[in-house]
Amino acid sequence: MRILKRPNTLAVFFAALSMSLLMSACEPAASDEPADASAASEPTYVLAIHGGAGTIRRSDLSPEREAQYRAKLEEALRAGHNVLSGGGSSLDAVIATLTILEDSPLFNAGKGAVFTHEGTVELDASIMDGATKNAGAVAGVKHIRNPIALARLVLEKSPHVMLTGDGAEEFARENGVEMVDNSYFYTEWRREQLERAKAAEGAMGAAMPPGEELAPGAYKYGTVGAVALDRAGNLAAGTTTGGMTNKRFGRVGDSPIIGAGTYADNATCAVSSTGWGEYFIRGVIAHDIAAMMAYGGASVEEAARTVIMDKLEAMGGTGGVIAMDREGHVAMPFNTEGMYRGRIDAEGNVTVEIYKD
Ligand code: ASP
Repeated sequence: MRILKRPNTLAVFFAALSMSLLMSACEPAASDEPADASAASEPTYVLAIHGGAGTIRRSDLSPEREAQYRAKLEEALRAGHNVLSGGGSSLDAVIATLTILEDSPLFNAGKGAVFTHEGTVELDASIMDGATKNAGAVAGVKHIRNPIALARLVLEKSPHVMLTGDGAEEFARENGVEMVDNSYFYTEWRREQLERAKAAEGAMGAAMPPGEELAPGAYKYGTVGAVALDRAGNLAAGTTTGGMTNKRFGRVGDSPIIGAGTYADNATCAVSSTGWGEYFIRGVIAHDIAAMMAYGGASVEEAARTVIMDKLEAMGGTGGVIAMDREGHVAMPFNTEGMYRGRIDAEGNVTVEIYKD
């Protein structure tokens, strides 16, 4: 949705003409005013989110369940919009939005995250500031209620980009971050998904592709991400997840990897990915979109579409991204049956979509 205010060409011409007549009539004239004051564009702000991509079909969701997803996505969008409309930063908006989704049992992040092979929950998250290109990430944390907030602390209070496991939790404790028992994250439906994944394990190996439906109802999408542009023109992106059902051996996906699951640079775009993480890591998907814009001059729509529909697809990967440029243009390509996604513009207009069509 474009909310750009471009000067009307005729208006600019007549304004320039009258200005030059005025200047020749009363020399010397000194003015810092632009020829046409309306040429200065209004700062805009936009927020977009995803709630995971995968085999999400109408037949999989009851009307009640679908309504719950739509309501929670809208609540998250409005929380981020409140931050942006009040002049808050894109980083703050990303945090406000993703905290709501982490606290909801509907998504594979925070409460409601998928189970590991051992029947525990291990969480990954990352965030990036497009203005400074500073980033923070955590991987394999087990007791952090809101991993996205910890990723932000890493960005702000540590000289590092990524902290993992016990070390990340020690850093969290030192910084007074809220810790919870691992059982806080457990939900019955994710436990059932683990059982189904284990039953299908023979066919697929230990970890299951997110969103793959190997047994009826065993779909397990739900990673969440947000990209935002604030009034100051700064982009930010964040992603937070429980990873893949039945993961083992400390497996870490793309979500906490800067350049794969998350990327933001004011010069190009902000990106958050969701899908089969191994492909997003090997394809360096989020940064690839920014690179097409930086080196090839592609628009965010072209870049995101090419990287997902051509490159990721050709690699055999599945998933999607949300990507936003510094003018607030949003692209949301995915090559799966569906992707929970939504956006909100400066006027507060909300769009939430789930399926491909
Ligand atoms: N990309 C995440 C991972 O592989 C999962 C997802 O997006 O659903 O860990």
